[in-house]
Amino acid sequence: MKNLAINGGTPVRNTSLQAEYLGASLYGAEEMSALERVIKAKSPFRYYGLDCQKLVSKFETKCKQKFGIQNALGVSSGTAALIVALKAAGVGAGDKVIVPAVTFIATAGTVVCAGAVPVFADCDDSLNINPDEISRLADKYTKAVIPVPLLGNSCRMDKIISEAKKHKLVVIEDVAQSMGSKFNGKYSGTMGDIGCFSMQLNKVLTTGEGGMVCTNNENYFERACRFHDQGMYREKEGFLNTVNSENLIIGQNYRMSELTGAVASEQILKLDWLVENCRRVFRSIMSKIQPNEHIQFRKIVDEEGFLGTSILAFASSTELAAQIRVAISKENVPCGYLYNGKPLYLNPQIFYQRTADVSGFPFNQFEEPVVYSEGMCPTAEDLMSRNIHIPLSPTFTEQDCDDVANAFNKVVLALCSK
Ligand SMILES: *Cc1c(COP(=O)(O)O)cnc(C)c1O
Repeated sequence: MKNLAINGGTPVRNTSLQAEYLGASLYGAEEMSALERVIKAKSPFRYYGLDCQKLVSKFETKCKQKFGIQNALGVSSGTAALIVALKAAGVGAGDKVIVPAVTFIATAGTVVCAGAVPVFADCDDSLNINPDEISRLADKYTKAVIPVPLLGNSCRMDKIISEAKKHKLVVIEDVAQSMGSKFNGKYSGTMGDIGCFSMQLNKVLTTGEGGMVCTNNENYFERACRFHDQGMYREKEGFLNTVNSENLIIGQNYRMSELTGAVASEQILKLDWLVENCRRVFRSIMSKIQPNEHIQFRKIVDEEGFLGTSILAFASSTELAAQIRVAISKENVPCGYLYNGKPLYLNPQIFYQRTADVSGFPFNQFEEPVVYSEGMCPTAEDLMSRNIHIPLSPTFTEQDCDDVANAFNKVVLALCSK
């Protein structure tokens, strides 16, 4: 106990280890020269300009090749990707959508924005949605399910898709945190009906803000294009030259700019290197961590397809987890907890259903009121309350990996001996 930095002992590291933002850590001459092209051409808009470089299109083409999918659409954010996907799938007022208990708030917020209501499914020991929950929760209103591969850990897409089929649900994969992860050799985001990606700073690749929607379904793709660009399908029809097709809809603006496309089209080329090195770092650290009966690690669904962007563990109690987080941080290895130790529905804006609408919409559309309550998803509440999260970086050296493992082992040994 005495040797812990928290008790005045010497920390494992003299200086704090900085986990860099993943994609941004790889920014370099490539992103710079692509951006320069757009600036020099004075053409920052994707569909026209003085000398449009078509870099959003280039990014989309590279995504199609990389992920082996027929259609890809660059959009302005991961949130935009989800809204566009929900609208492409025809989700709206009067519908319910099954979302995981543990995810970022945007997964549920976009459902509300689409006019539908999120229904929360409990997780299993992977922290991802438990596929058995789909049949328990689906009712006559349920239109879609949004599995979220959390922090690089792919979902059990085989079971999710077969459960969704039973209830005729559209499967929208929210891969915001996990671009490049795979399940059974297939990229996350390409197995369901529509895949949604984010390139916000905290995600895998980054353009600061940005997103992508992909699908093999031509009908969904046309609707996605139209919804993201004021109802237009410019590749086919030109500006406001829309035909009165079955797919014509009133849209919004969720377009990606050429400035974003420039950086995105170079970042996508760095995905393999990034994933390889995140895995190297994760595996190196895990091979040095000593097992302890008070510590359990998140179940990795597909070891080969896992990104390894962070370490997520659960201590045997909430108090112990809190002590461990503080003690590891004092060793100069940043350690925190994921989502404040809570499933999403316990956040007040969701729990109390505070939408921007005064009327109670969209929660007032059903015979039975939609209620969120404590204890609703017991596994998620339990695991989240005991979580320990250590973000990793592809730029960690072997020494950095040793430091993380040493800090973890030192703290766990001292605090969990009895
Ligand atoms: C970040 C995130 C989003 C939203 O992406 P933005 O690009 O920030 O809008 C959606 N879903 C999940 C699971 C996320 O982590």
